[in-house]
Amino acid sequence: MRWSDFPKWGTWLGDWAARYHAGLRDRPVRARTKPGEIAAQLPQSPPEEPQPLDDVIADFERIVMPGMTHWQHPRFFAYFPSNAAPAAVLADQIVTVMAPQCMLWQTSPAATEMETRMMDWLRQAIALPEAFQGVIQDSASSATLAAMLTLRERALGWQGNEAGLSGQPRLRVYASAEVHTSIDRAIWVSGIGQENLVRIPTTGPLRAMDTEALDAAIRADLAAGYRPAGIIACTGGTGTGACDDIAATCDVAEKHGLFTHVDAAWAGAAMIVPEFRSLWAAVERADSVVLNPHKWLGTQFDLSAHFVKSPEDLTRTLAIQPEYLKTHGADGVINYSEWSVPLGRRFRALKLWFLIRAYGLTGLRTRIRNHVAWSAALCERLRATPGFEIVTEPVLSLFTFRHAPEGTRDTDAHNLALVNAINDDGRIYLTQTRVNGALVIRFQAGQFDATEADVATAFDVITEIAATLKE
Ligand SMILES: *Cc1c(COP(=O)(O)O)cnc(C)c1O
Repeated sequence: MRWSDFPKWGTWLGDWAARYHAGLRDRPVRARTKPGEIAAQLPQSPPEEPQPLDDVIADFERIVMPGMTHWQHPRFFAYFPSNAAPAAVLADQIVTVMAPQCMLWQTSPAATEMETRMMDWLRQAIALPEAFQGVIQDSASSATLAAMLTLRERALGWQGNEAGLSGQPRLRVYASAEVHTSIDRAIWVSGIGQENLVRIPTTGPLRAMDTEALDAAIRADLAAGYRPAGIIACTGGTGTGACDDIAATCDVAEKHGLFTHVDAAWAGAAMIVPEFRSLWAAVERADSVVLNPHKWLGTQFDLSAHFVKSPEDLTRTLAIQPEYLKTHGADGVINYSEWSVPLGRRFRALKLWFLIRAYGLTGLRTRIRNHVAWSAALCERLRATPGFEIVTEPVLSLFTFRHAPEGTRDTDAHNLALVNAINDDGRIYLTQTRVNGALVIRFQAGQFDATEADVATAFDVITEIAATLKE
């Protein structure tokens, strides 16, 4: 294939994309293939000779498409959304055509300057104060790792990178059990170690860290000769949407001089809606905040927004300047590769620019408000249905429930069977989690094109399949 063939295939792609989206509701949300079924259809060895693109595309339709789970399906209610709004997809395709590597300002000035402005647009949209500056990381996991490395260096007097961790004071980091596993991995990769991630018990309906227990844990660690370094708080934990009390957490952090990172990977997008901001009240007191526009907002994976109060601390931790990366004569410009662990970076800001302009903040807010309202309505319908119980109340558009009709002997097994039967049916897709050890079914609404009718369909499917399940 040559670039001169591109108009033909570009047109094919445009038609295919529109048809794919128009037909999504007729497809099962979750792939129905068995492990190994796709691999068995792929040749063991690569071809020596070029093959016509028509054949490649025909095989793509035949082999690949049946093995896809449709994350853009309007009735995808599993995990969290991973929205790809068409305007953002278009921007990404433009970027893919030019394929710039935007590690330094001079390797594409527009990418850097667009990133600075888009992070500031987003900062305003979620009402973070001007004290924060943003950088686009590939994922929330990377942003959290960057924050963990920063808090490590800060607590070690900037000696960790240079001298390594052996012989250093033993650092401690505090978080509840509701935080995402990316925090565990950041603790491992940063060399701080799992044993030094201190789990703080949670309390209240939002399953927030008990900040008295947090303070007590820090004081006990100080007395034992450890060096407390930072606190990881969450707004919208992955399992059930747990939200730490950021104000009370920052009271403790400030008292002990600790760095605070807030993981709002999913819920952060909802902070474009003023009435939801109470969930992270006092976030302006944190040192570092991450949210994923690639989840609920619509800029498809990957685009994670990492806001920090001190870019100096971040770049002091991560910047490295061998001779070949020095940009002589261009002082005063930002080189975002100094703000992240990977060197290379895609031009991600363009899709945020297209997204915000194409839908406006108003359009994006309306979607999120609708998802929250429709999810709450479904929660009330299930609560009112005999045999169903709501286990955790909605946090934004996420709640959990169980089906436990009278006489159910093994409620966990029954609910696992229910969620599996629902997903085999294919009209909707749900996932499960555990709350206080019990298996519960999660529901979240958030797909970009979901309608009220799609959420109502979830009620029909859940109750219909629950009624047919033998215990
Ligand atoms: C999804 C999620 C993450 C991980 O996000 P990635 O961008 O995939 O790394 C981290 N924290 C929370 C709360 C999440 O929901």
